[in-house]
Amino acid sequence: MPQIIDGKTISTAIKDELKKEVAENNIKATLAVIQVGNDPASSVYVGNKKKACEYIGIGSASYELPEETTEDELLKLIDDLNEDDSISGILVQLPVPKHIDDRKIIERISPLKDVDGFHPESVGNLCIGRDGFVSCTPAGIIELMRRSGISIEGKECVVIGRSNIVGKPMALLLLANNGTVTVCHSRTRNLKEICKRADILVAAVGKPKMINRDYIKEGAVVIDVGIHRMDNGKLCGDVDYEDVSDIVSAITPVPGGVGPMTIAMLMVNCVKAAKQVK
Ligand code: NDP
Repeated sequence: MPQIIDGKTISTAIKDELKKEVAENNIKATLAVIQVGNDPASSVYVGNKKKACEYIGIGSASYELPEETTEDELLKLIDDLNEDDSISGILVQLPVPKHIDDRKIIERISPLKDVDGFHPESVGNLCIGRDGFVSCTPAGIIELMRRSGISIEGKECVVIGRSNIVGKPMALLLLANNGTVTVCHSRTRNLKEICKRADILVAAVGKPKMINRDYIKEGAVVIDVGIHRMDNGKLCGDVDYEDVSDIVSAITPVPGGVGPMTIAMLMVNCVKAAKQVK
């Protein structure tokens, strides 16, 4: 039986630690959450983020803007929130409607309030090993491994996916933790052979159950970032869990693995932002 890496329990522990820290140190924080349009999936994510703020005892300010909001209007709101001392963190729920350039939006958020860790300054800090905000999903994966007793140092780590939000920061974090890192993508040749070298395999490929046992070395640690709704209504990841579970040493389930960590790490960043502003 592999070790099942329990993201639900670990994320709750993190939120409980934050709740205690916020109460004991009387930390005053407010996360501004901006949503443009009413995409149902985005509304669920936004709702969960607000609930998490409430759970740890910080405020959230909601800005639900209509689909037809212009880029300039959104930039103006971000400018106002950057200037507002009562707001410690700013989050714009992505994706934004097509007529808005998400890069412009991300770059407009003050790096001091960039709790998603997407601003180029935050990414640069991660790249050169300076303290800063780190993208929540990959930061959550490092924390999952740390709290599950999985060491990264010296390990052969393979990341499938090179997105700015998951794959690239994941690779940088594994490197910062002294892993030997290979990043794969849609143009990678011999993907299976490369993945089979991995002691730690992170699948962030966005393809349901693509990673089966042919990609996995016996005893590997497998982190499944993917999340997909199947026709039967159940969730699955990028990894074929049933197919690989007898050869891995540890694995994250979907749901209940990486998913809950993303919001927990967002809360870590919110508290960090509040302490910085003080
Ligand atoms: P993207 O679609 O932005 O990136 C997917 C990456 O996978 C790309 O780099 C792409 O390569 C690569 N890729 C696609 N097909 C193949 C292939 N056949 N072989 C090798 N590489 C391939 O996705 P994200 O990084 O945003 O997300 C990845 C997954 O994680 C998704 O399922 C998403 O839903 C999930 N996710 C889960 C989160 C959570 O909280 N659990 C948070 C964020 C994402 P190329 O660059 O060449 O196109």
